[in-house]
Amino acid sequence: MELLAHPQALGWVAVLLALGLLPQAAVAGPGLSVAFAVQVALAMLYHPVAAGVIAFLGALDLHRLRRRPLTVWWGCGLALVTVTAGGAVFHLVAGQDEPLARLLPAFVACAVLMWLAGVAAMVAAARFEHGTPPRQVLARMNAASPYRFPATFPGMGWFGLPVARLYLAEGFWPVLLLLGLLLYARTMCLKAWSQRGRLVDLLERERRVVAELREVNRGKEQFVAVASHEMRTPLTAILGYVTTLRRQPIDDPAARDRFLEIVERQAQRLLGLVETLLTASNLEHGRLAARFDWASVEDVCQEVVEGLGDDRGRVRLDLPPALPRLLTDRRCLGQVLGNLLENAVKYSPRQQPCELGVRPDGDRLVLWVRDHGAGIPRSELERIFDRFYQVDDSDTRPVTGIGLGLHLVRELVGVLGGTIEVQTRPGAGSRFTVVLPVRHPDARPPPAALAAGAAARETRPSGT
Ligand code: ADP
Repeated sequence: MELLAHPQALGWVAVLLALGLLPQAAVAGPGLSVAFAVQVALAMLYHPVAAGVIAFLGALDLHRLRRRPLTVWWGCGLALVTVTAGGAVFHLVAGQDEPLARLLPAFVACAVLMWLAGVAAMVAAARFEHGTPPRQVLARMNAASPYRFPATFPGMGWFGLPVARLYLAEGFWPVLLLLGLLLYARTMCLKAWSQRGRLVDLLERERRVVAELREVNRGKEQFVAVASHEMRTPLTAILGYVTTLRRQPIDDPAARDRFLEIVERQAQRLLGLVETLLTASNLEHGRLAARFDWASVEDVCQEVVEGLGDDRGRVRLDLPPALPRLLTDRRCLGQVLGNLLENAVKYSPRQQPCELGVRPDGDRLVLWVRDHGAGIPRSELERIFDRFYQVDDSDTRPVTGIGLGLHLVRELVGVLGGTIEVQTRPGAGSRFTVVLPVRHPDARPPPAALAAGAAARETRPSGT
C-alpha cells in the first residue's frame, strides 16, 4: 500500500490532525482553511486513493468523536471523497513532475472540483439537518460574505501547488515552515476581518449617538422657544392687569375681583408650568421618590376636575360606588389624571364634554380619560409620549403646551407600577387608559397610615 511505501504520508496525517485541532475563527462562508491547501497538495502528490485515505485519517477529530460522532464521520467521508475525486482529476490531466504550463490547468480543475464538492456537501448537510433549501443556504453564504464566499477555499487551494512542489524539491520540513507561515498569515487575516467588523459596528454606534445628540439638541432649542413663549403669555397678562390696577383706582369691586381672578388664574398656570418642569427634571435625574399612602380615587378625581377651573363643567365623572382605596402616590396620580384631563379639554371643541372614568378590575384599577376632539394621527402615536414632542398640526396647535404632559404621564404611571395605552380615531377623539395596581408591590405605607387605610377599607362595602 502506498501509505506504507511513503512513511512520510503519516506526517501529513499528523499535520491535518493538528490543523483540525486549531480553533477556527467564525468566518462566514466556507471558511479560510489551511487544511484545504494541504488536501490539494495531497491530491497532487499521491495516488488518488492514497491521498483520500490520508485526508480521511487527518480529518478524524478525536476531540469531537464522542460528542458528535455523526459529524466527525461525515467530515472524514467528505475528505475521502473530495480528495480522491480531486486527485483523480489532477492525474487525469497531468502528472506531478510536469512543467507549470501543463500543471496549472490540472491543478485548477482539481482545486475547483474539491471546492465545489465541499460546498455541495455543506448544502446537503444543511438540507438534511435543518431542512433548509439549497438556494437559501447558498444565498446565505453569499450574503454573509459576497466576495469571500467564492474566494476563500479556492484562494487557499492555490497554496496547494507551492506546498506540493516544495515537498517534492525540499522534503517535509520546509513544507512545515511554509504551513506555519500560512497559518500566521491566516490568523492575521482573520484578526483584520474581525477588527474591521468591530470598527464598522463602532462607527455605526457612533453615528447613532451623534444623531441622538442632534435630536436632543434640536429638542432643547425647541423647548426653550416653546417654554419661554408659554411663560410669557401668563406673565404678560399678570403684568397688564397689575399695571391697570395700580394706575387707575377701580371703584367697582366686581370688576376689581374679576381682574384679580384673572391674575390668580394666570399665576396658577405659571405655577403649573414650573411644577411640570420640576417633576420632569426630578424624574430625569431619578430624584422622584414616590410616597405611598392610602388614597381615595374619588377624592383625587374630584380635585383634578376642580383644578380645571372654568372647564370643570365639561367633565363628566363616571365613578361607580364603593371603589377600593389605592395604596399609591396620591400626588403622582393627581398629576397623571390632571395632565390627561387637561389635554382632553385642550384638544377638543369647547362645547364637547370629556369623561373621566374609573372601574375596579380584580387587584387593579382601570382609569380612563376620553374626549371627542381631533384625535391623534396613527403615525404620531409612537412619539406623543416622547419628551417635548408635539404633534405638528395647525388644527390642534393653537392651544398651549410644551410637549411634556404625556411624557410625564408615562413616566409617572411607571412610578406607580401601572401601564398606559391610547385608542384614538382622527376626528372622533381619544381615550387614554391607565391601569394601576390597587396596592403598589413596593409600597410600604407608614404604620399609622396602614391602620387608617385598613379602617377606611373596613367602612367600605366592597373594600380592598
Ligand atoms: P402638549 O404640552 O403639547 O399638550 P403633551 O405631551 O401633553 O404636550 O402631548 C403631546 C402631543 O400629543 C400634543 O402636542 C398633542 O398634539 C397630542 N395630544 C395629547 N393629548 C391629546 C388629545 N387628547 N387629543 C388630541 N391630541 C392630543
